[in-house]
Amino acid sequence: MKTPRLERRNGAAVDKALIDAFAKDFQGQVILLEDAGYDKARQIWNASIDKHPGLIARCAGVADVVHAVKFARGSDLLIAVRGGGHNVAGRALCDNGLVIDLSAMKGVFVDPDRRSVRAQAGATLGEVDRETHLHNLAVPFGVVSRTGIAGLTLGGGVGWLVRKYGLTCDNVLSCEVVTAEGEVVTADEETNADLFWGLRGGGGNFGIVTSFLYRAHPVSVVLGGPILYTRDQAGDVLRHYRAFMTTAPEELTAYAGLISTPDGAPAVAVVVCYCGDLAEGERVIRPLRGFGSPFMDAVQPLPFPAMQKLFDDAFPDRTYNYWRSSFLKALSDEAIDLIVEHGNRAGSPLSGVVLEFYGGAAGRVAPSDTAFAQRQAEYNVGITAQWTEAAEGDQHIGWVRALWDALVPHSSGGYLLNFLGDDNPEAIRGAFGTNHGRLVELKTKYDPTNFFSLNQNVLPRPRESRRAREGSASVGDRKKAAVHGPSAPGPVHRQS
Ligand SMILES: Cc1cc2nc3c(=O)[nH]c(=O)nc-3n(C[C@H](O)[C@H](O)[C@H](O)COP(=O)(O)OP(=O)(O)OC[C@H]3O[C@@H](n4cnc5c(N)ncnc54)[C@H](O)[C@@H]3O)c2cc1C
Repeated sequence: MKTPRLERRNGAAVDKALIDAFAKDFQGQVILLEDAGYDKARQIWNASIDKHPGLIARCAGVADVVHAVKFARGSDLLIAVRGGGHNVAGRALCDNGLVIDLSAMKGVFVDPDRRSVRAQAGATLGEVDRETHLHNLAVPFGVVSRTGIAGLTLGGGVGWLVRKYGLTCDNVLSCEVVTAEGEVVTADEETNADLFWGLRGGGGNFGIVTSFLYRAHPVSVVLGGPILYTRDQAGDVLRHYRAFMTTAPEELTAYAGLISTPDGAPAVAVVVCYCGDLAEGERVIRPLRGFGSPFMDAVQPLPFPAMQKLFDDAFPDRTYNYWRSSFLKALSDEAIDLIVEHGNRAGSPLSGVVLEFYGGAAGRVAPSDTAFAQRQAEYNVGITAQWTEAAEGDQHIGWVRALWDALVPHSSGGYLLNFLGDDNPEAIRGAFGTNHGRLVELKTKYDPTNFFSLNQNVLPRPRESRRAREGSASVGDRKKAAVHGPSAPGPVHRQS
């Protein structure tokens, strides 16, 4: 490996004087290779990711984000954007470039009368839950409380409230965004509506979101927890789960999975979260609880933040991880058999295969209404390898790929953007599905140079094809197009 340093995209080192000038006007923390905190600051959740940024700019606020973007543009730096650092593929980091780190921007402000909450992009799910719960409200996020809201929301966001209240991105009312030009703009239904469309499922392709305004829902105590069976009952439990979910009300989100207990015993779990009236919830889930011979039933009334933390310990920081997922055309008997067969071969007690059933509110939004296209497929299979010894990687990665390959004939060809654990362009394209073309246009408009490249990347249209399309446009028009893209219906609206 070559010695890490901050360098331009052409490989030339950046002068110390330039870095000093940048640091002088930066209010947050500038973390360089020689600093004591550097190694900690370049760590993210997945220990498999070992990248050495040239500079980590831990922003204190929006002005710092703007300053970092302008510095990167002026010096032609590769950038990565870090929210909660939970992206499995490690897209929050880069080698020898600039990490624009928002993890210290954690302001959360609840408006109980409007049932909304504004959260800065460095907050985790748990940090938002803590504030909304004070008002008996909740935003639909994911299922592990230390995950960052930013990456999760931009990729769609599925969790315990998905069937009743939709994806996280369906509950975004407005975003504050720093563009590739370093301008601060608002994106909502009225202002920069095309950008707002792309931010709801299009990943980090179009700008750096500094804060989100979310709709919150009246959720306080839910009926939730796991029902656990020994692994030999896996096939029967998954078939029963499938039959049960066909008529389950939307208040109930339930996942089923092949996991191991904390002492390493292979098990099969059905985990439920019922977000309506608790007595009704007891009635609804009775058939699940009554099935087979579970060795543990821990379903109980839980404050929603506690539900969100149920699986935190199953995904500890700094383990080695490789994940893939696939939407299924249908959860056939054959697919269940493959899941059980391969699930039983997992080489680590921390690894698992999880079946997630969506539909409900998320499925009622049209695929073209937001950038998140995967609205119709109901079952997502998440294959998550997690291990503790670096040298064992090949074995665990091989296990994930073998099951994923075996499921190809059953796959809808659609993937969940948030669970893409490596840079597989076909899978990224499959995740964007029918929205990919529109995303390319949006990328060409808002980020024609692909300044934001370390994400589930959408490439802008090549310069040549842009020129051809622009035809005989004036020099002035062409200059404008380079900033806003040729298909721009109007200027980007700056925030007042
Ligand atoms: C343990 C665990 C549990 C998970 N559970 C769920 C779940 O239940 N549901 C679900 O939908 N997903 C889940 N995920 C996937 C998760 O949503 C994605 O990995 C997501 O990218 C994490 O967001 P982050 O901010 O923590 O990530 P980061 O690694 O910080 O960033 C992820 C990506 O988003 C971009 N990005 C980050 N912040 C910004 C910003 N402010 N503006 C623009 N771009 C930005 C980054 O450049 C990067 O490309 C889980 C992941 C883990 C590790």
